[in-house]
This record gives sequence, structure tokens and C-alpha cells, in this order.
Amino acid sequence: MIVTKFGGSSVADSTQFKKIKAIIEANPARRVVVVSAPGKRYSSDTKVTDYLYTLGSHLKYGVPDDRLWNAVVERYKEIKESLNLTIDIEAELAAFSGMFGKDIDQNCLVSRGEYFCARLMSDYLGFTFVDAADIMCFSYDGTLDIAESEKRVIAAFEKYGSIVVPGFYGAYPNGDINLFSRGGSDITGSYLARFLGASIYENWTDISGIRSADPRLAENPKAISRITYEELRELSYMGASVLHEDSILPVQECGIAINLLNTNEPDHPGTIITQDAGDGTPITGIAGKKGYMSFVVRKKHMSGEVGFYRKVLSVFERFNISIEHTPTGMDMFGITVSEEQVAKHTHNIIAEIENTLGATVTIERDISLIAVVGRNMVGHYGICAAIFKILCENQINVKMITQSPDELNIIVGIDGTNHAKAIRALYDGLCKEALL
Ligand code: ASP
Repeated sequence: MIVTKFGGSSVADSTQFKKIKAIIEANPARRVVVVSAPGKRYSSDTKVTDYLYTLGSHLKYGVPDDRLWNAVVERYKEIKESLNLTIDIEAELAAFSGMFGKDIDQNCLVSRGEYFCARLMSDYLGFTFVDAADIMCFSYDGTLDIAESEKRVIAAFEKYGSIVVPGFYGAYPNGDINLFSRGGSDITGSYLARFLGASIYENWTDISGIRSADPRLAENPKAISRITYEELRELSYMGASVLHEDSILPVQECGIAINLLNTNEPDHPGTIITQDAGDGTPITGIAGKKGYMSFVVRKKHMSGEVGFYRKVLSVFERFNISIEHTPTGMDMFGITVSEEQVAKHTHNIIAEIENTLGATVTIERDISLIAVVGRNMVGHYGICAAIFKILCENQINVKMITQSPDELNIIVGIDGTNHAKAIRALYDGLCKEALL
């Protein structure tokens, strides 16, 4: 049995719905369908979810704007009418809009993007609609209640055999809706695949698999046919936006492969994400993220002062800031963090470290981190040499260097202004060296 998840652009209109039907009918093992809310039909289009967030703010502040809801309604009506569906989606939409007011539950409002899409998809495919609110159960602390959700998902699947489930949300025990973070339908699909012991989790998007670098920065980067879960998590964490980061672990833990596929090019094999992706070039991909800054903490003889690092790091912990890297010298060490996360607290953190620990602190902003990732880099000499040679030839200064202990990644910190140039140069140069 295969669990399939279709992203926003795959359910954007009736033309996309038709492609999905052909995909589902091409393989009878595809019996579970998770859908996002209709996304963009063209680049300047607006996603239904974004309309709903905006509508939520309008309702909350009592500034009604019929255009927002009408735009949402039009999206669903186009699908229904073009596909000659019998479901009375207009009545369902009208009943829901009857509840609009200042106190409308924002989570419930936003979740309707997926909900109404799944209602239509269920009618079109002839699969039973199962509301995520009935099977994806959240505890009051906002975490998914795995045991309860698993029980309910299995029961629904055993009862109906072929189901359509809206992604992105579930419910608390009292029935109130809770959302995963943005892009969270991937997580719904992943849990369904895990609970039902799917043979594979197919995640259908609008790209034919993962590229080995951002195609907006590198020229026509190679497609990756196989990648490990860990490699993908590293690349996603470092800015490659492919799957929701939290959607990998649920299937990884039980060894279910993810196949990333393209609804618009269904015969393309896409990318398979597994535990063991086999041999290949040493490097699998390059990703990068801007927007980091470094706190440089200086104190004479700090290397010999037992507990000094812990005391400095605990200041960041108190401000709830997660730390990316900590390159070290004799009398100083750097703490690299996300600029956005630390923004409001920068001065308080500096003051606390300087006043309580007798150190001086300076900051450096606009750092970009570039990660070179590959399961086959372990034990392979010459990769660092190649990376630094390329950066040198392109006159890009390296501010920070780290390699993970399992040799899965090598990360360099550079000036943010060199971000695109570095990714392009590394991609071209490492391909030329046959390392990627
Ligand atoms: N519709 C939601 C979003 O735009 C969730 C998803 O598509 O996965 O973030």
C-alpha cells in the first residue's frame, strides 16, 4: 500500500486534479491520498492558505473584506464545475462562512484550505473523505499523540479501504483544531505512511526530484536520484526547501522510503530518500543559508577556565536561542546563531556576558553558511582542499569552518554578500573535479 501526498501546486485547479486522478488510477496500491490546500497556479498567484491567514486577521480586527473569501470560493467552484462533481461544495462553503466573526477560531479557518480541497478530491476519486480532525490527535502541549492517532488512522483505513485526508491539521481532545507549521501536509502524509506501514511514501510536488544545488543560483544543477534521510535533513536544514523538515523522521524511524515525484511529469523517477542510498560521487549536494551572526567572546586564559563555555552558552539558553556553531581559539570563541532569532536580545546577551563573566563581546553580522553534504565524503581525502581552492580562486574569504564528526557535512561561514557567488562557484568547481 502506498501513501500519496499532493502539494499545493498539484491541487491548484481542475487540470491538476485530473493529473492526480490519472496517477492514482495508474497504481491500485495508491489508496491513501493526503492533500494540501490549493496553491499557486502561476508565480504571481496567491495560495488559498495565504488568503485564509489574511482573512483571519481581517475578521479578528473587524475589517471585513469579501474579496478574500470570494477568491477562496472561486478556487473551489472552478474545480467542482470543471470536473462536474456532485458534491454541494457551495453549500458547505456558505455554511462555514456563516460562522465568520471576530471570535472565529483562526486555526480552524486556516485548516479549511485543506479541508475543502479534500472534500472535492474525495468526491472526484471516489475515495472516502476522512477528516484529519478525527484521526490526527494532538495533546494539549501541541505534540501529536502518536498512540491515539495511530489507532484512529488504522481504524479509518481498515473501515474504508481508500481514503482522502486533508493535511496540515488535527485536533485537540476537545475538538479544537491545531495546525502543524507551514508546509505541514508533508508531516500528515509521513505519519499516515508510518501508521499504516506503507511500502513507500510518495510526495508529489512540481519538481522532478531534488537538485544538487539551488537552481536559482547554480546553472541547471544535476538531479539527485537517491539520497539518504540524513543527507536530506542536512540539506533541508541548510536551506534546501524540499520537504518539511519534520516529515522525514516519522518514516525514517521505520525505514519507509520517500519518493519525491512531479505531478506534472509523472513518469520521471524523481528522488528516492532511503537509509542506504548506495555509492555515488562523494558529494551529494550543496545548500546555503543567509542571515547568521556571530558573537565573539574574548577573555584571557578562558581555555583553562573550567565551566566558562557552559556559562556563556547558558546565557543563550536563557534567551531561548539555539546555537549553530562554536569555533574556538585560545582566548576567544565564537557563537554563530540565527540573526532573526537573536534580534531582540542581542544587547541583553552582550550585557549579561560582559557583566557577569568578565569577558568582552563583539558581534559580526551578515554571515552566510554554506554546507557541502555527502554520505560518501567519509574517509575521502581532498574534499576540503577542493572546496577551499574554489573559494580561494573566487576570492571568497572563509570566516568559519566546521565538519560534522560523521563527515557528512563540511560547513563554511562566509560574508553574506558572497552567498550566491559561493554556491555557484562551488557547484561548478566540484562538478569539474568529479566530486559531485
Ligand atoms: N497549506 C499549508 C501551507 O501552505 C500546508 C501545506 O501545504 O502543506 O503551508
